[in-house]
Amino acid sequence: MEAKFDKRAELLDGAAIANQIKQEVAHEVERLVTEHQVRPCLAAVRVGDDPASAVYVRNKVRASEEVGIASEHHALPSTTSAIELLDLIASLNARSEVDGILVQLPLPGEIDEASVVEAIDPVKDVDGFHPVNVGRLSMGRPTLVPCTPAGIIELLDRSKITITGANACVVGRSQIVGRPMAQLLLQKDATVTICHSRTHNLAAVTRQADILVAAIGRPGLIGREHIKPGATVIDVGMNKVTDEAVVRTLYGAEAEQRLEIISKRGYTLVGDVNPVEADEVAGRLTPVPGGVGLLTVAMLMRNTVKAARMRRGL
Ligand code: NAP
Repeated sequence: MEAKFDKRAELLDGAAIANQIKQEVAHEVERLVTEHQVRPCLAAVRVGDDPASAVYVRNKVRASEEVGIASEHHALPSTTSAIELLDLIASLNARSEVDGILVQLPLPGEIDEASVVEAIDPVKDVDGFHPVNVGRLSMGRPTLVPCTPAGIIELLDRSKITITGANACVVGRSQIVGRPMAQLLLQKDATVTICHSRTHNLAAVTRQADILVAAIGRPGLIGREHIKPGATVIDVGMNKVTDEAVVRTLYGAEAEQRLEIISKRGYTLVGDVNPVEADEVAGRLTPVPGGVGLLTVAMLMRNTVKAARMRRGL
């Protein structure tokens, strides 16, 4: 007999936790200013005119203003050479008032992203992508940790989800999400499995997970059969979907609302998890949007303050 699914998963409120973190950061900035006359400063670098990158950087600069962090936005033309970009990074590395440097990826054209990331002083690397910080993270040593996975750990902790001893499965092995996510879960004493595009029988593996993190970039790939009943499912995916048929398949009765968003904005943001099916099986679930995305910017703010403290010995 086919199992009947009609349960509704508890939605984890990423927006509320992101606001909480930003308030904490704002207090810490105030303390740094009053006690040490130090206002942390974040320099954001963007090359070219990719509209998505422009929005991301604008959001980061706006968040900095909200929490009292000073910010600089270096918007360079798409004709910028690797040498010019590396020169700018060298000058930001050298300026003592700059605490955090982020270079918005992807970079256009021929510029080698790895060499740009490696040019950033590791103590100012607030994205946590520099090999020194990646190495420290994998050794379990304190360091600047990539913002999206760090935000997910905050979300799990503050939602009182037990990580110690849990079976955690991360689908995706990217440098920015999957790998650091797995490292952080391991540090928190989970038993961690990493899946990717070559994993055989993905559902059989993910179904073992008490905590399932999907960072794949495929709309709605994680369905009912991938989820252990009662599991906590974290949906990192942010996929722009324009296709009405896909929206109808993924959202069922709630499709109309999404279709309205498409007609206004041209697309709707869809996660890597099938929201209707996950809702029936999972114990807890992050919505898209409103889940992990907002935490990423909040953690960038926290990393900037952390970088300021570490570098200045405060
Ligand atoms: P990515 O670099 O493209 O990596 C995707 C990973 O998924 C790869 O490891 C790939 O495996 C794996 N994969 C692809 N198809 C698969 C399949 N059919 N079965 C199992 N694994 C599969 O992506 P990313 O940068 O990690 O981003 C993932 C998603 O998260 C995207 O939707 C992105 O927009 C979103 N994202 C959101 C935030 C946020 O703040 N919310 C931040 C970053 C990213 P292989 O390694 O074998 O190719």
